Amino acid sequence: MNNTFLKRGLAPVSIGIIAATLSYSAITLAEKAKEPWQLAEETEVWEPVPAVISVPANGIPSDAVVLFDGKNLNQWQGAEGGAAKWKIVDGAMVVVPKTGDIKTKESFCDVQLHVEWKTPTLITDDAGKLLDGQARNNSGVFFQERYEVQVLDSFNNKTYPNGQAGSVYKQSIPLVNASRAPGEWQTYDIIFTAPKFDSAQKLTSPGYVTVLHNGVLVQNHFEIQGATEWIGKPAYKAHSCAPIRLQDHGNAMNFRNIWVRKL
Ligand code: MG
Repeated sequence: MNNTFLKRGLAPVSIGIIAATLSYSAITLAEKAKEPWQLAEETEVWEPVPAVISVPANGIPSDAVVLFDGKNLNQWQGAEGGAAKWKIVDGAMVVVPKTGDIKTKESFCDVQLHVEWKTPTLITDDAGKLLDGQARNNSGVFFQERYEVQVLDSFNNKTYPNGQAGSVYKQSIPLVNASRAPGEWQTYDIIFTAPKFDSAQKLTSPGYVTVLHNGVLVQNHFEIQGATEWIGKPAYKAHSCAPIRLQDHGNAMNFRNIWVRKL
């Protein structure tokens, strides 16, 4: 037996360890003393409370901006200025070929967009020649006037997959081809996260896009590579919030029930 140690008593370090052990035991006992509901409450988060919105039977959320309800083109203008020259037929806006793209009057950043579209049943040109590939009823939804989610008749119509319906044009092939036949209404539900730029015009965060085509996921948080290009590689160039643009690619594409939620 080491009498010296006993005479001197416990070293300060040992006292510390004992105190910590007792303290820990006390906490453990206190935790054990808690009822399960008390423990469950510790991981409940009560703020912030989400805003209450309503979603009526027509599916348009109460916080959405309605861009087209079948009645008029009041929310739209020509992409190069002036009035939108597309026509309204049976509650749908229809591309009048060669009148140009149209764009929203309002600018948007991050959004959730719902748009319905229908490709014409006629798949031949005026001379009776079969339209195929990119020529078969092409249009597009451009976010911020730059980033295109392709609209195309991709029902039994071969083209380069990064240019078919549901693609991020020339950037990302859709996960599946969820196309319906010509003449059937189809839906896009798209979550678009805008790219961010700093005050020196430098990209600080790329854009992202998630696309559901007829309710089916076809783009899953794809990182956009830059502005859509037909020729060459995409690249970013700084910009602010900007309109949503719909493409006149020379085909009488139909659109209806378009609404957007700002995120
Ligand atoms: Mg297009």
